[in-house]
Amino acid sequence: MSRFFSDKYKKLVPYTPGEQPKDTQYIKLNTNESPFPPSEKAIIAALEETHNLQLYPDPECRKLTEKVAELCGVEYENVLMTNGSDEILNFAFMAFCDSKNGAAFPDISYGFYSVFAELNNVPYTEIPLKDDFSIDINDYKGINKTIFIANPNAPTGMTLSLEQIEEILKTNPDRVVVIDEAYVDFGAESCIPLTKKYDNLLVCQTFSKSRSMAGARLGFGVGSADLIADLNTVKYSTNPYNINRMTMAAGIGVLNDEAYTRENCAEIARNREYTTKKLNEIGFITTDSKSNFIFAKHPDVDGKVIYESLKKKGILVRHFSKPRISDYVRITVGTSEQMTALLFALKKVLEENK
Ligand code: PMP
Repeated sequence: MSRFFSDKYKKLVPYTPGEQPKDTQYIKLNTNESPFPPSEKAIIAALEETHNLQLYPDPECRKLTEKVAELCGVEYENVLMTNGSDEILNFAFMAFCDSKNGAAFPDISYGFYSVFAELNNVPYTEIPLKDDFSIDINDYKGINKTIFIANPNAPTGMTLSLEQIEEILKTNPDRVVVIDEAYVDFGAESCIPLTKKYDNLLVCQTFSKSRSMAGARLGFGVGSADLIADLNTVKYSTNPYNINRMTMAAGIGVLNDEAYTRENCAEIARNREYTTKKLNEIGFITTDSKSNFIFAKHPDVDGKVIYESLKKKGILVRHFSKPRISDYVRITVGTSEQMTALLFALKKVLEENK
């Protein structure tokens, strides 16, 4: 730390992203990326756009925003495009929380929520999940805090129903409820339609997972026109050109190829179900994931040992050392070939640790 670092950040512990190895020899199942390449339409559009890089991108991101609005069945005024969904989450902490208006989220969820809270000097409450890792919505009723819930949750992949989300919205009419739908396309139901009924709902989604564009950094938020206007105030006060030209073009390209996205999501869901079944057959305990990852533990082998042993065999998964989940590993669902290799390696790991 330099002697110039602001006091306000001295205690900040930054988010730790999953490993991004520089060599490609690993089967990479650790950061929930798509195993499929981006749509051809996205690639061609991004390449063409490189010819215009001397010009700033459209700060309104108009064409892409209109396309996303159409996809979501809402109006242009209800959507804000951001640099990954991490950016809309940070904007939400900036816009809807402060030292007097704290945040609340589950104790086991996306690790960035607490970092954004710390960064923005927002007091926060981590509400414990139940023993089976489900969210007890009673814990969120009328709590007078800005609520952040990932649905499906990460790293469990478990979901809340729209009725349950509606209960949380109804009982917190004066607080914003942020539903982070980064993984919704793999088998959960989006609550975007509820944004028409509840002016306190902000839904965040990303192009990183189902649309194979993690490297392009594209996400968005959907909510009432007033919520989006507030988020735009924050955006124009930090980075008006938050979406670069190539990403914008690729985003439009992939939205012109919805069949490709749907096929990939269906394939991931099939591979998830198959792999989960096979894991259960060899003794793994898994959560009911509706996401593009499987959260699994084995009664005989510790999560850290599984992670390390798989790494030695060329397969990267994610392990969290946090209490309650340190027994588990989170495995991104890949192609069927990758899942076959994973199952083969896991059987060996179990044999080695008998
Ligand atoms: N929310 C959740 C629950 C996530 O797991 C992630 C990915 N790490 C994100 C949001 C952010 O993804 P991105 O910034 O790539 O859109």
